[in-house]
Amino acid sequence: MQFLLWLLLIVIAFGAVSYYRMSMFNATVAMFAALVFGSVMGIVGGFTWLLYLIIAIPLNIESIRVQYLTSPILKLYKKIMPEMSSTEKDAIDAGTVWWDGEIFSGNPNWQVLHNIPQARLTAEEQAFLDGPVEEVCRMCNDWDVTHTRADLSPEVWQYLKDNKFFAMIIKKEYGGLDFSAYAQSRVLQKLSGVSAVLATTVGVPNSLGPGELLQHYGTPEQQNHYLPRLATGEEIPCFALTGPEAGSDAGSLPDTGVVCKGQWQGEEIIGLKLTFDKRYITLAPVATVIGLAFKMSDPEGLLGEQKDYGITCALLPRETEGLDIGNRHFPLNVPFQNGPIRGNDIFVPLDYIIGGVKMAGQGWRMLVECLSVGRCITLPSNSAGGAKSIALATGAYARIRRQFKIPVGSMEGIEEMLGRIGGNTYLMDAVTSFSTKGVDLGEKPSVISAICKYHLTEKMRQLVNDSMDVHGGKGIMLGPNNYLGRGYQGAPIAITVEGANILTRNMMIYGQGAMRCHPFVLKELFAANNPDEKQGLAEFDSALFAHIGFAISNFFRSLWFSITGARLAGAPFMDETSQYYRAMQRYSSNMAFLSDVAMGVLGGELKRRERISARLGDLLSYLYLGSCVLKRFDDEGRRSEDLPLVHWAMQDTLHKLEVSLEELLDNFPNYWLGKALKLVIMPFGKRFTKPSDQLDHAIATILQTPCEARSRLGKGQFLSREPGMLMGDLEQTLENVIASEPLYTKVCKAAKERYPFTNLDKIADKGLELGVLSEEQAELLRTTEQGRLRTINVDDFDPSELAQEVQKPKAKRKPKSAEAA
Ligand SMILES: Cc1cc2nc3c(=O)[nH]c(=O)nc-3n(C[C@H](O)[C@H](O)[C@H](O)COP(=O)(O)OP(=O)(O)OC[C@H]3O[C@@H](n4cnc5c(N)ncnc54)[C@H](O)[C@@H]3O)c2cc1C
Repeated sequence: MQFLLWLLLIVIAFGAVSYYRMSMFNATVAMFAALVFGSVMGIVGGFTWLLYLIIAIPLNIESIRVQYLTSPILKLYKKIMPEMSSTEKDAIDAGTVWWDGEIFSGNPNWQVLHNIPQARLTAEEQAFLDGPVEEVCRMCNDWDVTHTRADLSPEVWQYLKDNKFFAMIIKKEYGGLDFSAYAQSRVLQKLSGVSAVLATTVGVPNSLGPGELLQHYGTPEQQNHYLPRLATGEEIPCFALTGPEAGSDAGSLPDTGVVCKGQWQGEEIIGLKLTFDKRYITLAPVATVIGLAFKMSDPEGLLGEQKDYGITCALLPRETEGLDIGNRHFPLNVPFQNGPIRGNDIFVPLDYIIGGVKMAGQGWRMLVECLSVGRCITLPSNSAGGAKSIALATGAYARIRRQFKIPVGSMEGIEEMLGRIGGNTYLMDAVTSFSTKGVDLGEKPSVISAICKYHLTEKMRQLVNDSMDVHGGKGIMLGPNNYLGRGYQGAPIAITVEGANILTRNMMIYGQGAMRCHPFVLKELFAANNPDEKQGLAEFDSALFAHIGFAISNFFRSLWFSITGARLAGAPFMDETSQYYRAMQRYSSNMAFLSDVAMGVLGGELKRRERISARLGDLLSYLYLGSCVLKRFDDEGRRSEDLPLVHWAMQDTLHKLEVSLEELLDNFPNYWLGKALKLVIMPFGKRFTKPSDQLDHAIATILQTPCEARSRLGKGQFLSREPGMLMGDLEQTLENVIASEPLYTKVCKAAKERYPFTNLDKIADKGLELGVLSEEQAELLRTTEQGRLRTINVDDFDPSELAQEVQKPKAKRKPKSAEAA
């Protein structure tokens, strides 16, 4: 009995100092106090005191600790830590840590989250959205773009150039718009609701490419030459990194730039001989300035002693002699300009290198830095914008389309899809707003941008699939009246570009996240690599013991949260959302704890155990996505009408987090350790189930009924009600159908017959005949009928017209490899 009391005292005292993360000194004092109390109570004896002194003295006397503990550990650490490749180092160095660091702390401070200002547009940005963006959406007919021309119309191209759509990132001093990341995101959201080709064409020059690279790294001459021309659309940029042999492993590109002497405009100069084979390059067929990544070498030592420089970026004007450009790829019936670029022994001057010779070899770092921002904006915004328009359209369609005499949207099976569509749309918009705000605050959130890219493109794929199912044949029959089919076809494009998703989930999110966001891992790594060994040892000592304290704290926090179901954890709001803050507090501790265990058990091997790393990354991702939802709800005034969307998004996110957590523990490389961890972390299994049928029903109702929550969900999308505008027409028809229903019921009652909700023009005549409708009401029924038919009908084609179109995209030339064969 006395032993049990002793054990309880030690565990409680040690657990409390760990839970509250006391400093080493304070923890020593607190344990001392606990032992004094134990001695008075007669449960602590001499042996315990001896043990206490053996542990406390070396830990608290720095010279002893460093010599006998830290120094041998550092030696071992240096031996077992795998070498970091320079590309990995650049990736780690390239970004900054923001709210993701707080999530990784195991104890996120919610005040920090809610103190981050809400993203807002300036008056100029709002005017751009209401003016030129609205207008170009009106001008763009996606069927004409994707089927008839396989390109934007010349008028749209010109309008985009004239209104500086390609210059949203370019600074005002060069004639650009210099918009915030949030504003860029809103522009892309609106465009993507109308046409993926339009959104991609605008997105790419504003993302990773010559404009961005020149602003950050260009020489003044390059900036003054190119940036004003890019701002007015006189130059169209593209950036060529990918080739047949270097896709995901872009750093392994075989393209070369050899420093040599050659003739340039009649003079002999030192320049570069470039040989490259690039593919999949967006805007290449129409680009006038080509950003090119290649490996630079100087075998003759013309620039100095260095022979291999590594990845370098240059800008080539389109008219460069020998450049083979102009052919097009055909990306999944979403024919934005995309194609290969090749060159063999093309001689160019050294000042084509972005930033000049001093930036030779800095290409990878430049690209990764720009990508850490760009991946937060373009693809997530295109996905969220597409989702917003699809959510409105699907809700409207489900309400208008009837089968079995009721709107298909009131069938439970369809409600499941609508719930998923609405909940995910709320979340996706929350993520783009919050993440772009981070960029506007000066962050380069490389881990967050990988999370945004992966999760939002995956959610878009799920969402468009769901929407297709709700639409049935209407989504399948392509034609001018199909607003879904191209989005469905093109969904894998967003999955593949800017780091394909399997790679992003399995390697990038946690690979970078563990290093960057963990409060001590990077500090230990840098300390171990410090050339000043004495300083390195001191730094390692401080990081190591803080790390050990951190790990112990997360263990006790995890245990405590498991036992109590995190019911006693802090939450900034005492309302329906408090359960989510508490759960996230718990899972943050779990993630931090499991990270340390996984790194401790697997070491460098963790990098290769992709499925372990992917699931740890999932925990980080879901905690980030959940934070964005809670932040949005608060930023928008905690409106009760939005609660079904908030609950759905949080429950789905936390359920998925728990699935990943369980899978991680079930597949932990050490079976028994996995079992033990499960006992500590989730002894009672999963807490969150999938969102309930009731929630799906509530969201399905929101999507099918004009209301504030629905308007907020689709805010900012192109919904013009002018004739021929598909999305606006759906909105108008939805309102008309709802307004017509009581009139229809009135006529049925008066006629004592239940007519089908079709041929509303005939119902109108009947109503007039029976004297139960006014002329105005009858007119509404007739208008509703026309809108209803436009909504449910699909296009058909003359067979010869269709056959011609099918034959259209004949490849003009064989790929290079096939020619060689
Ligand atoms: C429409 C389109 C536009 C593009 N635009 C441009 C552009 O403008 N400029 C440019 O330079 N590039 C561009 N790209 C190239 C794009 O970035 C690459 O397609 C992408 O990096 C993937 O390369 P890959 O297609 O060769 O796939 P692969 O590298 O062959 O990958 C195949 C699969 O393996 C997975 N994988 C690879 N490595 C790992 C790993 N270590 N762990 C787990 N899974 C892994 C990938 O996720 C993918 O699912 C574009 C591509 C497309 C399709």
